[in-house]
Order: sequence, then C-alpha cells, then structure tokens
Amino acid sequence: MADTDFDYDLFVIGTGPGGEGAAMQARKGGLRVGIAERYRQIGGGCTHWGTIPSKALRYTITNTMNVLKNPVFRELGIHASPTMEQLRRGTAEIIAKQVTMRQSFYDRNNVPIYFGHARFIDEHTVEIENGETIRSKAFVISTGARPYRPPEVDFDHPRIFDSDTILGLAEKPSSITIYGAGVVGTEYASMFRNIGVKINLVNTRGKLLEFLDDEIVDALSYHLRDQGVVIRHNETFERIEGQDDGVVLHLQSGKQIKTDVLLWANGRTGNTDDLGLENIGLVPNSRGQLDVDDQFQTAKEHIYAVGDVIGYPSLASAAYTQGRAAGMHVLGRKDGNLRVNDLPTGIYTSPEISSVGQTERELTEACVPYEVGQSQFKSLARAQIMGTTVGMLKILFHRDTLKILGVHCFGANASEIVHIGQAVMDSKDLNLEYFIETTFNYPTMAEAYRVAALNGYNRLF
Ligand SMILES: Cc1cc2nc3c(=O)[nH]c(=O)nc-3n(C[C@H](O)[C@H](O)[C@H](O)COP(=O)(O)OP(=O)(O)OC[C@H]3O[C@@H](n4cnc5c(N)ncnc54)[C@H](O)[C@@H]3O)c2cc1C
Repeated sequence: MADTDFDYDLFVIGTGPGGEGAAMQARKGGLRVGIAERYRQIGGGCTHWGTIPSKALRYTITNTMNVLKNPVFRELGIHASPTMEQLRRGTAEIIAKQVTMRQSFYDRNNVPIYFGHARFIDEHTVEIENGETIRSKAFVISTGARPYRPPEVDFDHPRIFDSDTILGLAEKPSSITIYGAGVVGTEYASMFRNIGVKINLVNTRGKLLEFLDDEIVDALSYHLRDQGVVIRHNETFERIEGQDDGVVLHLQSGKQIKTDVLLWANGRTGNTDDLGLENIGLVPNSRGQLDVDDQFQTAKEHIYAVGDVIGYPSLASAAYTQGRAAGMHVLGRKDGNLRVNDLPTGIYTSPEISSVGQTERELTEACVPYEVGQSQFKSLARAQIMGTTVGMLKILFHRDTLKILGVHCFGANASEIVHIGQAVMDSKDLNLEYFIETTFNYPTMAEAYRVAALNGYNRLF
C-alpha cells in the first residue's frame, strides 16, 4: 500500500509516558503521527492517578511532617494535624502544570490528539468512539494498566479502595489495612504511617520487594517496623467484609484484621479489553498484557506495545524509554542504542530506596567474584546537617576489573544519587577508581560514593 493510503505513519493509543515517548520520537524523526486518549486530559495514569499524584502527596506529607517535628515549632506549641484535603491541595496544581506542559509537546510538534476510546477494526484501522476512523501504517499500543479487582471484593463500598481511588480519600483514617506489599502497597504504607495512621501491611509473599538486594529489603523492613507498621508475610485473603464502621480482612490463616479502611494493592491488569484485539488476531495473556519481542513488536510486526500494558517493570521511567525505542524502530533505527534493559528502581518509601544493576544474590548465584563497599549515611556531614542519617550506599564491584556491577541505596535522595553510580557502571572506561580519584562537593550525599569505594577497595587483598 502507498503512504497516501494512510492518514498517519504511526498512530499511538494512550498518552501516558509510553505513548508520549513513542509519538515524540517518531514525530522528531519526520513521521506523520497521531495519538488517541480516552481520558479527558492527556498524561496517562502516570499524571492523573499514579506516579505524579502519589509523589506529590508524599512530598507534601514529608515536608509538612518535617516542619511539625521541628523542635522550634514544638517549642512554640504548634501541634497541627493537616486534613487529607489540605495535604492533597497542591497535587491538582502539579497535575495541571504537567498536563499543560505535555500538551505543548503535542501542539508544538503538530501531533493531533483524538479524544475518545480507540479500538482496532482491522490491522491498519482504528475507530475512535465518536465514529471517526483512522488508518495508519504502524501503531503503538500504550494503554497502560489498572488495579486488578477480584469480583468478590466490593469496591463500591465507601471504605474499600484501590490505588486509583485511594487519593480521593475524604478524611484521614485512623487505621488502614494494605493488602499487597509490592511497590505501590509499601509506598502507601510509608506515606500513611508518616501522617500517624496505624498500618497493617499484608504481604502475600515471604519478604518485602524480593527483587531488591537482601540487605536493602532487611533495612526497609526494619525501618517500617520501627516506625510502627505491622507487616504480615505469607498471608492470602479469604474475603473482605465492608462494615459501616470499618473493613474486616479475613485471611486464609484464620486471622481477621479490622481497620477504618482497606487499600487493595495486589496486582494490575493490562488495559486491553475492548481494544478490538480480536479484529487483528492479537491475544492478551490472563493479566490482559501483550507479549512483545526485544523491539517491542507484538505478533503483528507493525503493531508495537510499550509500558504497563506489556507488564514488568511497570514503571513510568521504563514506559517512556520503551516508547522511544518503539518510535526509533518504526523510523528504521533499531532502538538507537537506548539502554532499555538498564533500568534503575526508585521506591519512594521512607527511607527512599533506589538501585541499579545486579544484586549480591544474583552475583553469588552466577559465581561472579565481587566485593562490596559501603557508606553509612550517619557518617556523612550532609546527612548530619539535614538530619537524614538513616541510610546506606552499597557499591558492588568486580574484584579483578573493579567494574561497577550494582549500586544499592536507601535513605535521603537515594533515587537521585543512584544515577551517579549508573553512569559509572555504564561507562566502558570508568570503574571503582573513579570514585576514589574524583573530588566530590562537600558536604553532599554524593560523597557517599567516595566513602563506599574506599571501604570496598580496602577489602581487597
Ligand atoms: C500509585 C502509583 C504510583 C506509581 N509511582 C511510580 C513512580 O514513582 N515511578 C515510576 O516510574 N512509576 C510509578 N508508577 C507506575 C507508572 O505510573 C506507570 O508505569 C506508567 O504510568 C505507565 O505508563 P503507560 O504509558 O504505560 O500507561 P499510562 O500512564 O497508564 O497511560 C495509559 C493511557 O492510555 C489511555 N487509554 C487506555 N486505553 C485506551 C484506549 N482504548 N483508547 C484511548 N486511550 C486509552 C488511558 O486513559 C491512559 O491515559 C506508579 C503507579 C501507581 C499506580
């Protein structure tokens, strides 16, 4: 078929980070690009009910609590307890700023946005819900995911929430049960604990966040418990009973946990229903996700899928890079050397956690000769000044080549400082010696790299 048979070279479904990354990359490369969005504003779940609102609320909570805990305020007799509405107030403003900024990307680059639910009617045609049809040579499906809702749980009950609805909580509860201790569950446990809510964190597995380095997981568990979070591992729900004055979680082990409200944070489902996949011969898996190859192509090579709709790692950061990689592939540039598999993890608990590269467990299993260098934040001048002495940076490096193999960090600014380690890890020329030989600003948290590198170097014999 000739190019003139198509309205677009690439049509993207969904304006979250995955869709935006794909659309902008392809458009900058000179392709004709259009995009569909079924929500009333662009930005995706990331902007409206996931990353941005949750991080904005966390920031407000952390700052407010730091101020209220300040001895000067206590001396003045200030003991305020902000309401949910007050804590949430800034969030809408940040969302609006994000939408305006992201809208300008589409406007400036002449990428038309079609508002309405899009579904395939054949391999080269989608229909928007107003009946308009669009023909395109290639497609990117970036429709995201939503919380998995088991049919037996009554999500219409006013005390039962999932991660999409919890931010609308009218009043601060006195207690909450969080069922599911993945990233979202653990982050909300930390956030609510910081405003004094009693927390039961119920984990269906034996450890928190098993994909992290063991030492970091142990530290997180210790600090959450120390803050008063009750964590129960290896539990499975039997039923959830919404009552007028609370919610009872009945567990298969026979335990019953009653709290003011319950947050269901267990599992997500890809947004593939009513996408017309049956019309193009694509079949999602049982979690509604699409399978893709290394280039993010589905079984139909001109139809790509990126972001949460393909499952792991389900991060905005990854979705954006995947979208760009798909856009580059459509342009015929493979993935343009994007490091789609070099993904850092940022978990916004208190303490914050971030890591990149391999864990000690993985290196041990692979029999890689590695050594560890550590820096405790309590011995850093900057941490002492800021009063953020909880934390640690850990560098894993090859004993012989001194190449950086992994960086694992928890504590203040972990998600920022991990990128210094990531840059050195990815460099062909740099290794542990970079941290030993480089002058760091003083006092900084980044100085932890020099301390950890020297600590590790001195262990070599
Ligand atoms: C509470 C919470 C906190 C999070 N925190 C972080 C974090 O700190 N860091 C991080 O990296 N990630 C975080 N995430 C994950 C992150 O939000 C997602 O990974 C990211 O939004 C995925 O991007 P996406 O483009 O795949 O999908 P989304 O951002 O979900 O966008 C998909 C878009 O597609 C639209 N759409 C769906 N179907 C159709 C259709 N048929 N037609 C038209 N439009 C359609 C939807 O309306 C939506 O706008 C968090 C998630 C949650 C729930």
